[in-house]
Amino acid sequence: MNKALKRFFAIDLSNAIFREVTDALVIFSMSFVTYFVFAEWGGLSILQNVLHREIKAPSLLYFCGAALVVFSVRRIGDQRRERAKRVAAEQNAYLASTRDPLTQLPNRRQFQIQVSTALKNSKNPMSVLLLGLNHFGKLNEVYGHLGCDEALSQIGSRIRDGAHSSEVFARVGDDEFALCLAGTDAENALRVAGTLLEAVKKPVQIGIELQSISASIGIVQVGRGHATVDELLRCAHVALSRARNAQLDCCFFDPKMDAHVRTRALLEKDLREAIGSHGIRPHYQPIVDLKTRRIVSFESLARWQHPMNGLIAPNTFIPLAEELGLIHVLSAQLFRHSCRDAANWPESISLSFNFSPTQLSDKNFAQDVLTILDDAGLAPDRLEAEITESAIVSDFEATRHAIQTLRNAGVRIVIDDFGTGYSGLSQLYELRFDKLKVDKRFIQEIGKSSENDIFMRAIFGLCKGLDLRVTAEGIENVAQADAAFAYGAHQGQGFLFSKAVPADAVSQLLIDFPRADLERKNTLATLSARKSGTPRGMVT
Ligand code: C2E
Ligand code: CA
Ligand code: CA
Repeated sequence: MNKALKRFFAIDLSNAIFREVTDALVIFSMSFVTYFVFAEWGGLSILQNVLHREIKAPSLLYFCGAALVVFSVRRIGDQRRERAKRVAAEQNAYLASTRDPLTQLPNRRQFQIQVSTALKNSKNPMSVLLLGLNHFGKLNEVYGHLGCDEALSQIGSRIRDGAHSSEVFARVGDDEFALCLAGTDAENALRVAGTLLEAVKKPVQIGIELQSISASIGIVQVGRGHATVDELLRCAHVALSRARNAQLDCCFFDPKMDAHVRTRALLEKDLREAIGSHGIRPHYQPIVDLKTRRIVSFESLARWQHPMNGLIAPNTFIPLAEELGLIHVLSAQLFRHSCRDAANWPESISLSFNFSPTQLSDKNFAQDVLTILDDAGLAPDRLEAEITESAIVSDFEATRHAIQTLRNAGVRIVIDDFGTGYSGLSQLYELRFDKLKVDKRFIQEIGKSSENDIFMRAIFGLCKGLDLRVTAEGIENVAQADAAFAYGAHQGQGFLFSKAVPADAVSQLLIDFPRADLERKNTLATLSARKSGTPRGMVT
């Protein structure tokens, strides 16, 4: 029990004893007054007249006195019992309001009270360590709430056993524990963090299974009286998120991180609004047949016209939308928009659309795509669904199911950014893609390194063997276009041909292509190079 609680109960106890003594005094005084009323002031004769019988004064007085004494003793006993019950109930209520019922550690409220008192009183700076269990949600899915409760109470006991008596510690969130240390000695903070992590990482027993749980720690250091506890916990949380993202054990808070978090929070708010108001629109970048230099399709690339920050590229907001679980809504909006635009293009021109890996795990994904195509009146064989290697790696079964449904309906499946992920050859073979896009970093390395040349030959050999068509991405000059063609690429895409343009500029591009200045310049040289296996501009 802490000092405040002890002081509170000590005061309460002395109040109660004082009340008992005063009650006893009042009862004894009443007995005395009664005696006088009856014995001295004729009360006895009045009572005899009323009852019409003689009453012996002393026996009555003895009786009254004894009854009052019994009454007062019983009354004092009752009061004691009541007081004991009330004290126990108050103690329970106090503990319930300051303890976490599962781990029996102090709770967030208690941590706030103790740390804010320490912040006000202490002349010394301090450090707050916030420990977060990693992937605890997954554990919940596997073992349910009861299993997680078992794990948490074991981890709570280890934290309590490991903490020094001078340290303030608490469970401050579902899967978060905080510890406040005196001083800002980074080495000491790291040592304590290391001990905590060691304690947490030991396997916990859930039912009959042993399960290891990893954790990360965010550390914030503070000078005297400079912050509130909420602010400290928020900063520690920022550092904890950074530690988790960088897959580190520990990370110290740095004010720069805060600026990043605030910018992100603003972006998040704006993104929600932009999605709500359909403010993110598709632009279209042409994909060109490298032989005829005619446009064969357009890739839909999302663009966000931000009211303050101008045009924002998708690499900023698509990952954020994925993280916030907004990608399904955003992608459906963009896809519907793109299909309606593509339905107005000549029939020979296809639409390429990027689907995010998280979408492929949704079991309704393929059916939703087909429904949107149908609504827009765009034939499924005019769609090329671009998916990245990371989608295959993250959920192979779901991806296979989605690909099969779409392919059966006539949609072509394209593997995007090839060479940047970790998909295996057997997966590539099993999923039966129609086309592969070689990532722009390999196209832009053409002619610069022999390793790149070896890689390009390997990819094109593989594609030939698997009968896959190939698009070379990121073509910025005619030499790259020619070299890609010489390697065996069928189609090309890049700033050489055009950047992504708004929907109303597509028809002009269709008129402009094929452009004379983009014709293959060195057909003979390229062809002879293809025969000898050495595309022009390559390192030999
Ligand atoms: P991506 O699918 O690889 O798209 C090609 C990216 O390369 C585009 O960047 C395009 O503007 C850029 N690019 C094209 N030609 C060249 C070139 O010659 N040189 C250089 N340096 N870059 C070139 P963008 O539009 O910024 O898109 C980035 C990525 O965002 C896309 O990469 C795609 O993965 C993703 N993305 C774009 N729109 C969507 C969308 O609607 N949904 C989803 N899920 N992802 C999208
Ligand atoms: Ca793409
Ligand atoms: Ca790509």
